[in-house]
Amino acid sequence: MTEMNAGASELHWLMDMLQTVDVGLVVVNADYRIQLWNGFMENHSGLTPRQVREHYLFDLFPEIDEDWLRRKCDPVLLLKNRAFTIWEQRPYIFRFKNYRPITGNADYMYQNSTIFPITDTRGDVSHLCFIIYDVTDAAVSKLELQATNGQLRQLSTTDYLTQMRNRGNWEENIKQEFNRLQRYPQHQSSLIMADIDHFKRINDTYGHAAGDLVIKSVAEIIRKSLRSTDIAGRYGGEEFAILLLDTTEDQASYLAERVRRKIEQTEVLYNQQTIKLTMSFGLVQRNTDIQDYLQWIEAADKALYTSKAKGRNQVTRYSKDL
Ligand code: GH3
Ligand code: MG
Ligand code: MG
Repeated sequence: MTEMNAGASELHWLMDMLQTVDVGLVVVNADYRIQLWNGFMENHSGLTPRQVREHYLFDLFPEIDEDWLRRKCDPVLLLKNRAFTIWEQRPYIFRFKNYRPITGNADYMYQNSTIFPITDTRGDVSHLCFIIYDVTDAAVSKLELQATNGQLRQLSTTDYLTQMRNRGNWEENIKQEFNRLQRYPQHQSSLIMADIDHFKRINDTYGHAAGDLVIKSVAEIIRKSLRSTDIAGRYGGEEFAILLLDTTEDQASYLAERVRRKIEQTEVLYNQQTIKLTMSFGLVQRNTDIQDYLQWIEAADKALYTSKAKGRNQVTRYSKDL
């Protein structure tokens, strides 16, 4: 074989590899006109090299954010640096459909890419080469894992019956709020504890499922009465805790009274039966006598207990002589 023949077949092999390799290869000139388009790109875009050659990249693929990609490519052209794009930043450069059976739940192909400079004989950057990697499998696995972690976090912090914060999550919040108040003593926050009256009777009369429905209804009333900064949780079986940020005892008392009246007027419908109920409340504003968040809860509990002792269906503010 002559040297020229050898050179020619080497070139042929190289062209073959370029066509069949399982990554996208795209070369554009400095004006972003496409010069090379390999088999991977053809298969996924449905466009042949002839159809794309000399076309302006951003005309052919309007989904590409031109400003963003140019910002990535500028240092490649000017400084001969390499640039990278990752799917976490932008899911793809070229919007290709995803055909992989395993990751069938992804609509499009997630892509990472490397962009490197091609220099001419003088050493100036004349072209840019994009290598496009299909990273759909890795991206989908990671996204699914993140979603599952989010669901687990949700499950571990949310009460199943009421979809309110569970006790652990709520206590975490009051702990943080108490610490914040230690740093900003001029801020005022209040705490309400509330417990359904004679709930055992409701369970005994109408059954446990009816009791559950009552708890859900109370949670809904509380939720609807709160502002977005208020933090409510299911503290125990039929006991709720509400932390009111930047709220004085007067304002908290007003809110508790409103919820109390709402509950008193509510009729929970269960199996064509109407269930009436009432609820007792205890509240306390954070003050300097309170040493930690547990004492804060204790004070509200004491006020709640006083409401119960005085005949239920009422709101009591904490005071030292309770
Ligand atoms: P009081 O007015 O003194 O609060 O009387 P009460 O009957 O409500 O007394 P208590 O608060 O001690 O009773 C709570 C009852 O709530 C006991 C328990 O059987 C019931 N309970 C706790 N959690 C649930 C629940 O998730 N669903 C139902 N249906 N009942 C529950
Ligand atoms: Mg009760
Ligand atoms: Mg109780």
